[in-house]
Amino acid sequence: MFNRRVTLNRPKDIDKLLAEHAQHLDKLLWYVEVKWPCNRTTSGRAQLLAASHPGKWIPMIWVGADPTVSRAYAELLLAFFKASNQGQGFEFGLGLIDVGKVADYSATYEWGAVEWDCVCKLCGGVFRSTNSGACRCAGCIQAARREPRRKNYVSQTENRVCLVESSGAA
Ligand SMILES: [Zn+2]
Repeated sequence: MFNRRVTLNRPKDIDKLLAEHAQHLDKLLWYVEVKWPCNRTTSGRAQLLAASHPGKWIPMIWVGADPTVSRAYAELLLAFFKASNQGQGFEFGLGLIDVGKVADYSATYEWGAVEWDCVCKLCGGVFRSTNSGACRCAGCIQAARREPRRKNYVSQTENRVCLVESSGAA
């Protein structure tokens, strides 16, 4: 999913796009754009693509009737991509796409509306979650809540936000 633009949308560009499409906001979706720096593309030129996670899957969020509310949600998704790719040389920004164009791309999904198969890092059990990066099943989370003093929670593994058990905690 390539864009001809190579400059990420600034907040005021987004304001302008929303104003231009004010009559059909219900047909628009938010997505996150990622700018690949020129030293990481085969063409040697910077490129803008739709950011995907997990794998090739591109999360999208309906703009809906109130773009202020959905924009706050899209900003969270943007923050997730920024936090997960720190130090990689990528830049991220918000994009807007008409639902008619979404159909051109095979791998999109509505952020938060799809359940993924996940494997619990504590017990090895398979469970379903709307967060593809979830790494603890409900049973292990509940067990940790029952014994709060034995566990110490730290966030962030290599590329996903995650709650992990720390050994030797007081
Ligand atoms: Zn578990």
